[in-house]
Amino acid sequence: MRKAVIAGNWKMNNTIAAGKQLIKDLAPLVKENSKVDIVVCPTYTALAAVVEAAKGTNIHVGAQNVHWEKSGAFTGEISTDMLKEIGVEYVVIGHSERREYFGETDEGVNKRSRAALAAGLVPIICCGETLEIREAGTTNTFVKGQIEAALNQMTADDVVKAVIAYEPIWAIGTGKTATFEQAEEVCAVIRETIAAQFDQTTADKVRIQYGGSVKPTTIDGLMQKPNVDGALVGGASLKAPDFARIANFN
Ligand code: PEP
Repeated sequence: MRKAVIAGNWKMNNTIAAGKQLIKDLAPLVKENSKVDIVVCPTYTALAAVVEAAKGTNIHVGAQNVHWEKSGAFTGEISTDMLKEIGVEYVVIGHSERREYFGETDEGVNKRSRAALAAGLVPIICCGETLEIREAGTTNTFVKGQIEAALNQMTADDVVKAVIAYEPIWAIGTGKTATFEQAEEVCAVIRETIAAQFDQTTADKVRIQYGGSVKPTTIDGLMQKPNVDGALVGGASLKAPDFARIANFN
């Protein structure tokens, strides 16, 4: 039985004050539930304050990226030690916005993910196809390739600790959600890929999220799907009642 994981990606939204307020509003709305890990991912400047604000609640905190080196001349980057020092537990890696606007590659995603795991952070490793790829009918092959690259050189012990987020790019921030069947199909392909790369027992332990315009109205149907173990939520994670309803899925 895999524990669900519902994560909110705040992207470049929320100042420290707004982030603290969001946690204050959210905490009383999310039920204590041993079946789900709830995570919010603020910007770097708000991370420490949000970790503090979330103390004593069942909300965990993640960053939106991390570098693979421990320190050095990497302007604009942040290390695993820096995140761990302030109590961050998760980190989003390879989000399509990083890939599209900031040149993030499969190789970088792999290096960042391995560094996160080595440091004891949980990487939320993102993958997903463009509309062109979906229309060309090559989604499964494309996502398989992204997963193989992202998990390259990892051990099975590492992989079971990672979270994979399947996020079709055409569904991110567009209001177009993949159908429950489309989400399930690709999440199943991801699990098959992990089984082939490692083994079935390992694949059965990995938590796979769907992301792309997830809303309070769509979460329950998504969570019925056997290979969908949670959601990575952008827009709807910025409103406490909406994110709470998603985290309290039925
Ligand atoms: C995301 O940013 O990962 C995302 C899925 O965004 P949205 O929910 O707004 O589509």
